[in-house]
Amino acid sequence: MTSTNSTVQTLIRGIIRDDVQALSAYHVPDASGFLKLDAMENPYRLPAEIQQKLAQRMAQVDLNRYPVPSYAGLKTALSQHFGVPAEYDVVLGNGSDELIAILSIACARPGAKVLAPIPGFVMYAMSAKLSGLEFVGIPLNADLTLDTPAMLAAIREHRPAITYLAYPNNPTGTLFDEAEMEEIIRAVGDSGIVVVDEAYQPFAQRTFMSRLPEFPNLVVMRTVSKLGLAGVRLGYMSAASELLQEFDKVRPPYNVNVLTEAAVLCLLENAEVFEQQAADLRAQRQQLSIQLAALRGVTVYPSSANFLLVKFTDSEGKAGQSPSFADQVFTKLVERKILVKNVGKMHDLLHSCLRITVSTAEENTVLLKALQQILE
Ligand SMILES: *Cc1c(COP(=O)(O)O)cnc(C)c1O
Repeated sequence: MTSTNSTVQTLIRGIIRDDVQALSAYHVPDASGFLKLDAMENPYRLPAEIQQKLAQRMAQVDLNRYPVPSYAGLKTALSQHFGVPAEYDVVLGNGSDELIAILSIACARPGAKVLAPIPGFVMYAMSAKLSGLEFVGIPLNADLTLDTPAMLAAIREHRPAITYLAYPNNPTGTLFDEAEMEEIIRAVGDSGIVVVDEAYQPFAQRTFMSRLPEFPNLVVMRTVSKLGLAGVRLGYMSAASELLQEFDKVRPPYNVNVLTEAAVLCLLENAEVFEQQAADLRAQRQQLSIQLAALRGVTVYPSSANFLLVKFTDSEGKAGQSPSFADQVFTKLVERKILVKNVGKMHDLLHSCLRITVSTAEENTVLLKALQQILE
């Protein structure tokens, strides 16, 4: 046993990249028995009638066959439903996480760099580093808006192959200024692509998709995860077709499985259910935001997503240092079986902040009552 272990250790040291050995695995907490407000999941289940339709469609899928790697039917349905401009194709991913990995691999020329505002979506930096690209993070302003002069200076200095702008941003919920984003897309010009990541589009209702024809270096990325299908794992991105063809070469040919394909095709025929749920969550976001802001020591940042970034300070208005006041609130929420995301250590700008997914009126009330007790 011991000798096997030491052989395995030698093997790891000999073959696994140093940077991979130094990584800690992406940590997903065990949430069984918890009110789960940490991962921007849609809290609603499918109506019984649609569950029935879905079950029938799934039962007919040819599980013995590989997917047809062109995914023509699914692509057409997605394009029509989500407003991909005519003449524009899409590339599909096993979640947009895979699309980010595909972009990194395709652009990993020696010395190539990736630029994004920070704090931002962690996979941009993670995926860049795993592909051997240098990641350059530019801090947001104190109010979590884009520091556009700093972004423009970084573009001049680093000539990034990929620039990511999440619209709206995760974990802040900020919808960056559209005119400033245009300035960045133009400044990058023909030296790189700008990926506008619209994971939260159903809650922001703003998009660059219709503007693809204006910007040859623009890639618009979406996912069905936050809309209510996180378990299905499907992302899509659109861009100039010659660019997409290059990215598609890197995509594993059968990356979207036949069950995902059939499920999304079926559910897009019943998309009004998800539109209604998104509308409800937008209304809940508004209400929860007002209710949270009324609590002592709580600051709620403006959000165009299905989560709220919330800063906590104590009765003297202090955020405290390790543990911060938000760390204490987080622990007390966990004791009450409520799980939110403690983002305080991700970046100085997020000190003493928690990220809370907006849920149903009932679940939001459970959270509010718990916070009232904790902050009393
Ligand atoms: C959740 C999220 C994604 C990942 O979506 P998947 O399709 O579930 O992989 C991508 N970008 C941002 C900004 C996100 O918040």
